[in-house]
Amino acid sequence: MCQKLQDKTLGQNLSFALHTLQNNRKKLIAAKFENYQALRDMSCEVKNSSLYNLKTRLVEFEHNAEKNGIKVHFADTDEDACNIIYEIIKQNNIEIVLKGKSMATEEIFLNDFLAKKQIKAIETDLGELIIQLINETPVHIVGPALHKNRYEIGKIFEKKLKAKYTDNIEQLNSIARKHLRNQFEGLKLGISGVNFAIAKEGAIWLIENEGNGRMCTTTPDIHVALCGIEKVLDSFEDAATLVHLLTPAACGQFIPTYNNIITGPRKNTELDGPSQVHVILMNNKRTDMLSHEDYYQALRCIRCGSCMNYCPVYDKIGGHAYQSIYPGPIGIIISSYIYGMQNNYENLSLCTLCNRCSEACPVKIPLHDLIRKLRADFIKQNKLSKKIKSNYQEQLGFKLFAKVATNGTIWKFTISNIHNFNYILHRFEHDLPVIKVWSKYKSLPEFKTSLYAKLTQIENVSYE
Ligand code: SF4
Repeated sequence: MCQKLQDKTLGQNLSFALHTLQNNRKKLIAAKFENYQALRDMSCEVKNSSLYNLKTRLVEFEHNAEKNGIKVHFADTDEDACNIIYEIIKQNNIEIVLKGKSMATEEIFLNDFLAKKQIKAIETDLGELIIQLINETPVHIVGPALHKNRYEIGKIFEKKLKAKYTDNIEQLNSIARKHLRNQFEGLKLGISGVNFAIAKEGAIWLIENEGNGRMCTTTPDIHVALCGIEKVLDSFEDAATLVHLLTPAACGQFIPTYNNIITGPRKNTELDGPSQVHVILMNNKRTDMLSHEDYYQALRCIRCGSCMNYCPVYDKIGGHAYQSIYPGPIGIIISSYIYGMQNNYENLSLCTLCNRCSEACPVKIPLHDLIRKLRADFIKQNKLSKKIKSNYQEQLGFKLFAKVATNGTIWKFTISNIHNFNYILHRFEHDLPVIKVWSKYKSLPEFKTSLYAKLTQIENVSYE
């Protein structure tokens, strides 16, 4: 994480990308939505109702999708999902597959699994292609290569695709397009994710901006879609409510460029489309989350990435510092379930509890609140507390801080006079408990006489 903090280019790229996304969202909401908050409420209800009735929805989806000619599979674990996909590939004697952008396939490390089985997966989303070329994982759930600027991408294409160096965006797009068009030819199987599955119709809805998703699902003869069970909704109306919020929240775009609604394999009278469509409904710990009175709310997530765009911690360190496929506020919560708390507890501290993510979330997930609860749960489970108990100096430091911070008079006195201790604090910054952890990576700030005045002037900030 400290390396990421010191990486100036990363900091600039993140700041530029995230602030652009924030501004686009803000302008769009002001210009196009009469009552954005009411739509958020409605979306929250739509998702809650689907989650409360999930079992019924899943059965209904399976029934109607099979009627449409779609083969529905159930995968309880990540391993099951990988094996089902591999079986389909093996039965059809395929060695190379195409992939559209899908966080569900990232979640189960499908590319690595297939590589071990000598199957090559070619990413067709521009961002996914860039990170595949440099062997990285996505930095953001919507913009996988959002941490790279056009100069860096020019160099990647020059080195990996043997293209002439350019940092012109149009030309970079054209290099990627040419490269991908060649890849699409002759491949028999395409893998995609799913944005929404519609139980009443037995159909799946895929949203994208590049057209590669449509190529992946219609050009090859077999289409395999991996779908988290929480994506199953009741009706098209429900899905349409969520679509109204997805791209505005993700990137400030009013409607998605491509809406792909897949209702089954090609009919005898049709010329195009796959002859086989498989949908894999994957659990992978989602039912554990669903059974919790608070954390079930994280299953409302429509993967718009807005919480990352607004997170002041993500803004500084980017997604890779979380060392999890799902970064940012929502990542902290779902990774704790999917990959286990023991592998994710360090991420619990990557949150200032500032509430910006919860305000930005289109489906009203109280992200900061759930992260705070996860922290408390983790402490209760005695894993973190053992660590803290073993460090007496730190314990003493926090006790002292708690005493000062919870007494108005002492607090006021301390922050009004702390500038008098600048010399001592700086002289012993590497020895004092708690402070020495901070000063390991950066210097302690110089406390100013006006600190108290400044703190008392801070007012509530609105992010809309
Ligand atoms: S938690 Fe909310 S803001 Fe974050 S990705 Fe999911 S839907 Fe978007």
